[in-house]
Amino acid sequence: MRLPIVDYLDEVLAGIGTDNPGATADYIPELADADPSFLGVCVATIDGTIYGAGDIDVPFSIQSISKPFAYALALAEHGLEHVLERVGVEPSGEAFNELSLEEGSGRPLNPMINAGALTTHALLGGPQADANERFEIVRRGMSAFAGRELDVDENVYKSERETAYRNTAIANMLRSYGTITGDPNGVVDGYTRQCSVLVTLRDLAHMAATLANAGRRPDTGEQIVPRSVVRQVLSVMMTCGMYDAAGDWMSTIGFPAKSGVAGGILGALPGQVGIATFSPRLDQHGNSVRGIRICDRMSKDMGMHIMEGAEPARSVIRRDRVLTLPGNHRVRVCSLQGTIGFSGAERVLRTLAENPDNAGRVVIDLRRAYAVNDVARRMIAEAARRLQLDGLSVSLLDPDRVLADSDAGEAEVISSLDKYRPY
Ligand code: GLN
Repeated sequence: MRLPIVDYLDEVLAGIGTDNPGATADYIPELADADPSFLGVCVATIDGTIYGAGDIDVPFSIQSISKPFAYALALAEHGLEHVLERVGVEPSGEAFNELSLEEGSGRPLNPMINAGALTTHALLGGPQADANERFEIVRRGMSAFAGRELDVDENVYKSERETAYRNTAIANMLRSYGTITGDPNGVVDGYTRQCSVLVTLRDLAHMAATLANAGRRPDTGEQIVPRSVVRQVLSVMMTCGMYDAAGDWMSTIGFPAKSGVAGGILGALPGQVGIATFSPRLDQHGNSVRGIRICDRMSKDMGMHIMEGAEPARSVIRRDRVLTLPGNHRVRVCSLQGTIGFSGAERVLRTLAENPDNAGRVVIDLRRAYAVNDVARRMIAEAARRLQLDGLSVSLLDPDRVLADSDAGEAEVISSLDKYRPY
């Protein structure tokens, strides 16, 4: 069977039509000359499947899409507190290359604007590292996310470095406030190389899917950065990733994303998919015009807005029944299913609290409960404990040991229902 998703992506690109407004980034000569006709989209699932349409193997420079990855690497290296002392997490509402710092503290407002990205870059490898070492850290890190060795485009690097007047000004401002130490020019060198790393949509899709998969590479299972780091990175992408268009993006498209001035956009819908688009012409905010259109269409068609929450709470109880055993013993079997978080567990607790048939034993059937998060595990175990305090016998039908580390009192753990089946 030819998968309909591929046809769908072809159709999305066809739907973009011939209209190709905007302009390539003119402040970097090498990007100004980019072929504006390139157009592509890739979607990567969190189990490692990639779907694509259009120009998915054309290399282009990653530009600002490197910023969330450099931020992730800085967080993994130094911890949240250390990084937060130097770079904030507030949306700036200003252009990406604005010369501005938080009043009072001298911190850049967030790591997605250039001031914050230069500071983040400067943190890599500690104060002793030089531009090449910092660049190598970020190149290797992004390669780990992408699953192949990425390399720099020397022409883009030279072209941007020769005209990096603005970033040099920002780096000098950061140096004057003591936000960065050492040579500001070296920071601009390393950061500009970081932005000049070449990627294809396929690479970006892998990188996006790794973010969507809480930092774990979908294909190999390798944890590239800790889960908590990814949460921080996606939060900042959500609020600051599209610069001064972040609010508009959040309300219409609604998944964390980051754009680059070469025309790429990377998006990640946590727990679901990674998305990457490419079209070189930009709007006034520096975001790819047709990339935004593609993301907008896909978000609407595929229900990808993060605020359009699923309703797991209603579906966590698969079945709740009472079996009558010989001797008129009643056993209640409450079967759970799916992903269970706080709201799902609350539903389970409320259901278990009622016992209309006066069953003397409750079996909590966890065979189809997967991805039970920490709080849900503790809540369900606590319910098992309290039911025992109420005088009931409790069995956990838990062959995969979902509740293994939780305190469920004296509940017996069974791996099949056999002994409670009526004969
Ligand atoms: N290298 C570019 C710069 O620093 C990145 C900007 C961007 O992609 N928005 O100006």
